[in-house]
Amino acid sequence: MSSPDKVLLPPNVDPIRYSICLTPDLEKFTYEGTTTVSVNVTSPTTTIHMHAKELSFWSATYTDSSTGVKQDAKSITVQIKETVVIFTFPTSIKPGSGSLHIVFSGLLNNQMAGFYRSGYTDIHGVRKIMASTQFESLDARRAFPCWDEPSRKSIFSVTLNVPVEFTAFSNMPELSCKTLEGGKIKEIVYMDTPVMSSYLVAFCIGEFDYVQSMTENGVLVRVYTPPGKSSSGTFALECACKTLDLYDGFFGVEYPLPKLDMVGIPEFAMGAMENWGLVTYREVDVLVDPIKASSNQKQRVCTVVTHELAHQWFGNLVTMAWWDDLWLNEGFASWTENMAADEMFPDWKMWEQYTVDHGSAALRLDSLRSSHPIQVPIKHAEEVEEVFDAISYCKGSYVVRMIHAVLGREMFQKGLILYMQKHKYGNTLTSDLWAAWEEASGMPIADMMKSWTEQMGYPVLKVVGSTFEGKTATIKLEQSWFLADGSEVTAEEAKLWCIPILASTSAGTSDDINMMREDSITIKVPIEDSSSWVKLNAEQQVPMRVAYDSDMLQRLTAGISSKKMGASDRAGILLDSYNLVKAGMMKPGDLVKLLSSYVAEDDATVWEALGGVLVGLEKATQDIPMINANIKSLAKKIIAPLVELVGWEAQAEDGHLTKLLRGTCIRLLSIFSYSEAGVKDEANRRFAKFLEDAADMQSLPSDMRTPVFKMVVKNGGKKEFEDVKGYYTSATDNAEKKHVLSSIGETPDLKLKMDVLDWTTHGDVKLQDFFYAVGSVHSSGPEGRDLTWTYFKENFDRYKTMLGLASASLFDAIIQCSCGGFSSDEKADEIEEFFKDKDVAQNQRKITQIVEAMRANAKYLKVIAESELGEEKFWKSL
Ligand SMILES: [Zn+2]
Repeated sequence: MSSPDKVLLPPNVDPIRYSICLTPDLEKFTYEGTTTVSVNVTSPTTTIHMHAKELSFWSATYTDSSTGVKQDAKSITVQIKETVVIFTFPTSIKPGSGSLHIVFSGLLNNQMAGFYRSGYTDIHGVRKIMASTQFESLDARRAFPCWDEPSRKSIFSVTLNVPVEFTAFSNMPELSCKTLEGGKIKEIVYMDTPVMSSYLVAFCIGEFDYVQSMTENGVLVRVYTPPGKSSSGTFALECACKTLDLYDGFFGVEYPLPKLDMVGIPEFAMGAMENWGLVTYREVDVLVDPIKASSNQKQRVCTVVTHELAHQWFGNLVTMAWWDDLWLNEGFASWTENMAADEMFPDWKMWEQYTVDHGSAALRLDSLRSSHPIQVPIKHAEEVEEVFDAISYCKGSYVVRMIHAVLGREMFQKGLILYMQKHKYGNTLTSDLWAAWEEASGMPIADMMKSWTEQMGYPVLKVVGSTFEGKTATIKLEQSWFLADGSEVTAEEAKLWCIPILASTSAGTSDDINMMREDSITIKVPIEDSSSWVKLNAEQQVPMRVAYDSDMLQRLTAGISSKKMGASDRAGILLDSYNLVKAGMMKPGDLVKLLSSYVAEDDATVWEALGGVLVGLEKATQDIPMINANIKSLAKKIIAPLVELVGWEAQAEDGHLTKLLRGTCIRLLSIFSYSEAGVKDEANRRFAKFLEDAADMQSLPSDMRTPVFKMVVKNGGKKEFEDVKGYYTSATDNAEKKHVLSSIGETPDLKLKMDVLDWTTHGDVKLQDFFYAVGSVHSSGPEGRDLTWTYFKENFDRYKTMLGLASASLFDAIIQCSCGGFSSDEKADEIEEFFKDKDVAQNQRKITQIVEAMRANAKYLKVIAESELGEEKFWKSL
């Protein structure tokens, strides 16, 4: 596909099959490579352009297939900025087939991109090196010269020459393996891949154990683990086998490769990467200790596996034509990860949890003016790094969820199967997916979806009038663009969405869907009697907010306190209200009154939302002591029954959600009640037992390790700080180390906070993880926030050097953990000013979003200060 507004390689030479041979030197961190690419030339040319980055070229030879005539390139020009290499030949290459043989060498970098090395300590305490790849989006070119564009699909044949003691694998199974050079090196040739995009090629070299199993359809699945830790792969293995079988049926096309390998990489910038047949993961996202793991960790591993495996179809088998449709990959996989986890573990209630995690993240980011549409124009491929964000993943999945609600499961799946059948091994545009669903359902999907994917933002549905008479509620609604800061939308900016309106009542969710295409609509909802409640956006299936009138909101409190309303809806009302308050569309006092409807709440998902609102209100009011004290005592009042309900002690019969709920409960105690004698003593007692035996999961289960560490550090001094920090060194499990990183910054001692920041930049903490510790200092309170910001400014160059050419997402993370979270216009100005002359092109969108959120918070703070919350009589009236 060629388009004048995209920067692409010339289309006249097309790759058909690459034969790539690499010989890495794991001591010198370099490798030698050759690649022979069979090509089809469509118009005469003396030059061949390919992508290449950080490679050195020694020779290039073109052979015309029909004549057998060879010619060596007379010049090889590397364009560093464009990451392009141009081979120029003495005579014109004629149209037809030929092959290009290139000899080159490269570096095994330590930047977690391209073909790179990771260091780790094995179970005997010996430092080891392994090598693996991370190519999405633009780093296949960093490993070998190629046409590094998703539409240039080809066959890949990979050969690796590696030391005999290493295990090596690639996308496809081994075809042959023989020993070379006096027995020290083995040459492994892998089978040809199906036609695929370059960003999905992968290989991996190191020392591993593995666990394996077979799917019902005969695919061999292996999870590779560090030697001696194979049991940590069993949970992911079980999830993967079930998921592949599920997807074979769901997508209507069987998984096309003979095997699937999954491997945890010691140093990894993202969560995981869906390379076809060889999925690579951050270790904590695939390896879990079957005994120690928390519910959160298990759920995370399960959903990362189901996400990556969804890509084996959505992304790998059918690929977006260009990066501007990245959301097709990520949004879809993010929807499917929940669908599959929900099928495997119905008691996890994944779709209820969706409301507070993915759903909430989507609505948070997409309420900023600096958001972007799901479908975003990408001119230079480098710009894609900026859109691996909550819009592509979370809002993308949210609109898929909406279509699912509109079409129903059967039509939804029928359309998907049509899409897979028609486009397998090909590339698509978003419109191809709409077309498949239109064909399946006969409904005008493209027309409806345009408003959600081509324009940024989402609507707030405002109730402007309601009557409840007899068996009918008549509700008049208006829609407008919802902005986090409530800023005015001018006539030119006004937008409309095509909104499917679903409603639930005490009788359940109605099957009727009203389609709202104009700026106002009046709907009728059947009710049991005139005292009923009507919840709009049933189960929160549409990415939007709802602003009720006071009568409807008052009615809803009955559904909330009786828990006759579903958990998604109970959480949804709260999240909508909280964000309406922030946008100045609801009185803060009404939100606080609403909170009292939740005193009997016992659902983990609703508590996640409730906890978020309480913590948010507490944080926002830290500079207004009177309001802050009242919020804190309200929070304690609401949390008290929860503590009674789940308590500290894990019970044998606890289900997944109960464990999550206990984690939330202890987390809230660590924020609101950490200094109270009873709480403090219990945390210390459990911590003392933990110090005696870190493997004692009964006294201190994984779900409560982070909050208990936080309380111990917050209440303690240097000794407690060192005790917690020491566990970072003694823990062998990455998930356990993460508990330390996430809590250590809570120390009240500024000097120790500073030590944490220094610690993170001195090489003890992995590059992929160091921002967790910075974040824990940052979120520890106003002093921590100022300290990390000052530290960031002073160490900007050092951070730049540390993260160098590593993934832009890591730099985003450190920016968020150092500069985010303030609530003043002055700070926003200061941060903007600071970045003005810095080279942060790939992080600019993130910075703009942080600053905008800060200004919105400043505005919100003013609203709170001037509201009824500032009057003692309001709090007395509660
Ligand atoms: Zn993904």
